[in-house]
Amino acid sequence: MASQFGESLLALVFPSRCVLCKQELRQSLVGGICGDCWCTLESWTGSVCTRCGLPLAANVDTPKFLCADCRRSGYPFDAARSFGVYGGSLRAAVLELKFHGHEGLGTRLGRLLLQPWMALEVAACFEGPALIIPVPLHRSKERERGYNQATVIARGLWRTLRDLNRAASFRFERRFLVRWRSSAPQSGLSLHARQENVRGAFAVVAPERVEGRDVVLVDDVMTTGATASACTSALKRAGARRVAVLTLARATPQFPDLAPVCPSWNPARRPDCPLAAVDRRTPPRT
Ligand SMILES: [Zn+2]
Ligand SMILES: [Zn+2]
Repeated sequence: MASQFGESLLALVFPSRCVLCKQELRQSLVGGICGDCWCTLESWTGSVCTRCGLPLAANVDTPKFLCADCRRSGYPFDAARSFGVYGGSLRAAVLELKFHGHEGLGTRLGRLLLQPWMALEVAACFEGPALIIPVPLHRSKERERGYNQATVIARGLWRTLRDLNRAASFRFERRFLVRWRSSAPQSGLSLHARQENVRGAFAVVAPERVEGRDVVLVDDVMTTGATASACTSALKRAGARRVAVLTLARATPQFPDLAPVCPSWNPARRPDCPLAAVDRRTPPRT
């Protein structure tokens, strides 16, 4: 009660604004996003590829349907799922997390990963304690940004599982996987170039602690799956049993990014924003 009163008083004296629509927040909220914007973060409810989680433009009745990529070659991970499609408010929130220092927003967004995790068939087969591991940034990049966005998202998922009394079934291990080679941004590269760009970029620090474990690999966005595949290969070389990939968003050409759902959000209004000049159709970095 006292802390609620203190929070309201603080919000009155130092009003903060929603990180997406910039309307004044009546109370300080974790992640700094207003209720209206939070409600516009849409999960994907349509059909997906059973393996890689690619959202499909049409609903399919075929059980265990696989997309063309999964039928052709497949990915090294056992399954992947995303909360939603990379567009609208979800895209805006990811960009705020990555480029505007809204670390707390990442922890709140990470809670959204419970939904795709619960819907994942392979999740029922995971034996605990499974390791929750974020896709790492190279240390120079993490130093520059001040945090790894995948780590804060993974922390949000971990806290949600802990709140559901599932803590004994999971361990949050943020330092088991490292990116020891810095590589060029994935943005704008072809699938083959992306695969080459991240090949051998990741390593497991303590293989004996990964051997025989099931792993939940967490990232912000999955585009071609090249980064998730490179991380999975390193984890499986270290002896990981199963790897499931969870991301907030899936970027796919079937669903080109549309205008933000939150009408007042516009990166171009922020002159300091590196995204102001970015073509909206450019795939994000993965
Ligand atoms: Zn808002
Ligand atoms: Zn697929």
